Amino acid sequence: MVEIEVLQGDITKLKVDAIVNAANCSLLGGGGVDGAIHRAAGRELLMACMKFGGCQTGEARITPGFKLPAKFVIHTPGPIYNDGLHGEPELLRSCYENSMKLAEENGCETVAFSAISTGVYGYPKKAATEIAVKTVREYPTQNVKKVIFCCFGEDMLKIYQKVL
Ligand code: ADP
Repeated sequence: MVEIEVLQGDITKLKVDAIVNAANCSLLGGGGVDGAIHRAAGRELLMACMKFGGCQTGEARITPGFKLPAKFVIHTPGPIYNDGLHGEPELLRSCYENSMKLAEENGCETVAFSAISTGVYGYPKKAATEIAVKTVREYPTQNVKKVIFCCFGEDMLKIYQKVL
């Protein structure tokens, strides 16, 4: 089983094989963690993302990390939370599954996830955390040895610690 760690900090500082970006469907950057990743990685990241022509919610794409300490960035647009009855849980699960799949296919051993959809997209934090943890735990891994859940705030860190 994959080792799981939770930490509080800025995901752009982590020296891991891949960081997972809570992107939007344009993949052209935005606010929150997405903006921070694009700023830290530099303009080349935007150029690489432009080539995809967007990405559907729940899917994922991989790019190099450019100026980041991380080797790769996996970009996944999470669902915008409405009421939980519009496929949000399934879409959030897909984000984690498809990100794990790309990490596996690219030989990543260490992967750090941001808390997808829990910022501007409004997913209830505890429910989102339960999906994140369950999906990663259930994912059959070969290459990935360690998953880090990177929490920006202390509230999120506490939720992860409780769920784990
Ligand atoms: P979404 O649109 O998917 O909700 P956000 O970027 O608004 O994405 O928020 C996703 C999560 O990322 C939130 O929990 C937010 O606190 C967190 N976050 C914001 N900046 C960073 C950062 N630099 N490193 C790690 N997590 C971050």
